[in-house]
Amino acid sequence: MTHKGAENCCNFAEQVELIHSATYNYYPLSEGFPTPKGKTFTKEKRDMQTENTQRERKDGRERLVVLGGGFAGLNLIKRLDPKKYAVTLIDKHNYHTFPPLFYQVASSGLDEASICFPFRREIRKTHHDTDFVMSEVKEVKLDRKEVVTPWVTVPYDKLVVALGTTNNFFGNPDLIKSVYTLKSTAQAMRCRNDILDHLERATATRDDKLRRRLLSFVVVGGGPTGVEIAGALGEMKRFVVPREYRALPQDELKITLLEGSPRVLGTMSETASVKAKKYLEELMVEVHTGALMKSYEDNVVTLADGTQIEAGMVIWTAGVTGTPINFTGTDVPERGRGGRLVVDGENRVKGMTDVYALGDIALMPDVDEAFPQGHPQLAQVAIQQGTNLANNLNRKVGKEAKPFKYNDKGSMATVGRNRAVVDLKHTHFGGFFAWLTWMFIHLISILGMRNKVTVLINWLWAYFSYGTSLRLLLHPNRYPLRQRWGEK
Ligand SMILES: Cc1cc2nc3c(=O)[nH]c(=O)nc-3n(C[C@H](O)[C@H](O)[C@H](O)COP(=O)(O)OP(=O)(O)OC[C@H]3O[C@@H](n4cnc5c(N)ncnc54)[C@H](O)[C@@H]3O)c2cc1C
Repeated sequence: MTHKGAENCCNFAEQVELIHSATYNYYPLSEGFPTPKGKTFTKEKRDMQTENTQRERKDGRERLVVLGGGFAGLNLIKRLDPKKYAVTLIDKHNYHTFPPLFYQVASSGLDEASICFPFRREIRKTHHDTDFVMSEVKEVKLDRKEVVTPWVTVPYDKLVVALGTTNNFFGNPDLIKSVYTLKSTAQAMRCRNDILDHLERATATRDDKLRRRLLSFVVVGGGPTGVEIAGALGEMKRFVVPREYRALPQDELKITLLEGSPRVLGTMSETASVKAKKYLEELMVEVHTGALMKSYEDNVVTLADGTQIEAGMVIWTAGVTGTPINFTGTDVPERGRGGRLVVDGENRVKGMTDVYALGDIALMPDVDEAFPQGHPQLAQVAIQQGTNLANNLNRKVGKEAKPFKYNDKGSMATVGRNRAVVDLKHTHFGGFFAWLTWMFIHLISILGMRNKVTVLINWLWAYFSYGTSLRLLLHPNRYPLRQRWGEK
């Protein structure tokens, strides 16, 4: 193990492998993975030979490699000076995503293409000579200054780690095999397919016990994502089921939200928490606070106090941890709270000269007096850190670097249509106006004009009709057998 202080229960390498396999398995885990007999999967591996990553560059520019094209990484790249840096972006997907709307994909409110944007197109617009490599980063060899992925090894002069976070199962990593999560577009699509599958199967069955089980949904975690997906399910129960699944008794559809702390939306104001709980209850969601999930087995969730709740489907939104990758070398970076990389005020990883970390994976304690424990894991923090680091890296010789200062513009969450809660610096409000504010902010933040227009049309259509053509259950074909994407 070459990694210090990560918040892990199991062997670190095992955790990396578990997350990797969950991301790339082609088959739904519930079906089991069919390994073709006698077939071995080989990996193509070669040194990266594109223009920006040749071992010796002739044009005098530094090779800057960015890991992760989320809000932080992409925002940094857009602002870097192309005369100074030959930039390579490595991401395990070939598109940028918009995580705040994953819950809408999971609840059939939006299609996945509306919240994804291809990197190659985005990069071409700003930095025509930025390289893009689609591959999953597994290791950084600090002594050799190389990034190792299953497909390529990429050398760097300066490295920026912006890999975000992944699900945290708090000491129970096997939960990854049985619960649904919302940390990627693929996870949101899987969740959508299975919600629809449960509704279809429940409609068809004559077995009352099975039907009740299929219709029992438990959301774990009362943060913004948990509240939003529970609200969307509540809306389905209240408005969609009576219209489109008329054979289903509405009261048999049970949606339960579990939150371990005393209130939902614990990071927002008390006003927001109270309002969100009220809105959820109006949408027929049962909210249990102070309820810690201990285990999930045989379709039963057991709480720490022994209470048992039937759950045909559990959606886990209870926690995140910094994306685990292996740092090897003589001095490996320290991981702080939440498996995040500890950085200084300029986002330089503590103890390193040429390695920076940005966004959700970075923890910057004791720098910003308003956030002594580090900043919240929010899109605005990631965007602003990307901008600040780009300005610092672009600065002229002799000019002082500027430490990061977060400009907190507020936070918000929505609970179904017409209802949202907004916390601004000096005021908190909820209801219809908050919902309009939420829609406007999200609409202007999505990348790409096509995506903005599609999302707006979908929202308007759903607002007036509750109808959406997105409740399609599309299963991928089983053959040809393939173990993982990128391996054949
Ligand atoms: C469901 C959900 C809802 C949210 N809602 C809100 C909200 O309403 N408002 C708000 O401000 N924030 C919200 N957030 C948080 C916000 O999305 C994050 O703070 C923000 O995305 C962080 O940006 P980032 O660039 O650090 O990481 P990310 O945006 O997570 O980007 C990380 C990138 O790294 C890539 N990557 C990860 N691992 C690897 C690997 N091993 N190899 C290669 N590439 C890899 C990913 O593909 C991704 O492109 C939400 C998050 C989630 C999950």
